[in-house]
Amino acid sequence: MLLQSLREQVVEANREIARRGLAPHTFGNASGIDRSGSQPLIVIKPSGVDYASLTPADMVVTDLDGKIVDGRLRPSSDLDTHTLLYREFPQLGGIVHTHSEFATAWAQAGRSIPCLGTTHADYFHGPVPVTDPLSAEEVAEAYVRNTGAVIARLFKRQKLDPVALPGVLVCGHAPFAWGPTPAAAVEHADVLEYIARLAFRTMLLNSSIISLPAHVSEYHFLRKHGPAATYGQLASPRSLKTHKPPTTESPVFNKPLLFAISGLLFSALFASKQYLEADLPPPKPSLE
Ligand SMILES: [Zn+2]
Repeated sequence: MLLQSLREQVVEANREIARRGLAPHTFGNASGIDRSGSQPLIVIKPSGVDYASLTPADMVVTDLDGKIVDGRLRPSSDLDTHTLLYREFPQLGGIVHTHSEFATAWAQAGRSIPCLGTTHADYFHGPVPVTDPLSAEEVAEAYVRNTGAVIARLFKRQKLDPVALPGVLVCGHAPFAWGPTPAAAVEHADVLEYIARLAFRTMLLNSSIISLPAHVSEYHFLRKHGPAATYGQLASPRSLKTHKPPTTESPVFNKPLLFAISGLLFSALFASKQYLEADLPPPKPSLE
């Protein structure tokens, strides 16, 4: 079968966005591209098919213009956004579109996600930008293709690097994320949802917060992506696919775990204090 390995990667990426809760119903799709041959070939999910029942044979193979090369099912209705992004950004090896809850809320609000913390800075170099809304002419002419065009226009206008910023919010719609492989694109879509949720809650707690100081965000981004990157193990090459989950910064300093343990200790101390201070009746003598 043509592009067997990429088909399997794309099936797995589509299943993974469903497993991670990023694509309610079938509101999401993943694709991958093979640029090694004489003509680049895209593998994409078929339209409206349940993620759990997808097989490599169901995948649709198209050229860079979206012309079907192999496949018996109709491709995802977002195909023309994917093809445009692959044409505009040759660094991309996989693209994921989701309607994940918090990232979509920011997109619907037409707001970029400010960099408020180190998890954001580890993965996205600066705020996650939001596109312009599509004009009436753009919608009428070619809505799906122009969804890709507004993304490309935004990156060109703001001189943004799609490798340093592996995701975007389409105004009034939802996020797109990408990476060197379909699996990396899923990882970025997942991190994007996580930092969207964190930013939402951070701004609820402190509405005057603007951004993480630049010297901290730069340190974090370059720790993972610069020529002097120190994150990860030297024995195995660093890749976006093998990044640790965003909640864990290093194996020896697991913040969520420390937080949970300190919470339990505090609860135990508080409970014992309450018990000692309570005006409790003396314990009944044992019958034994
Ligand atoms: Zn959508």
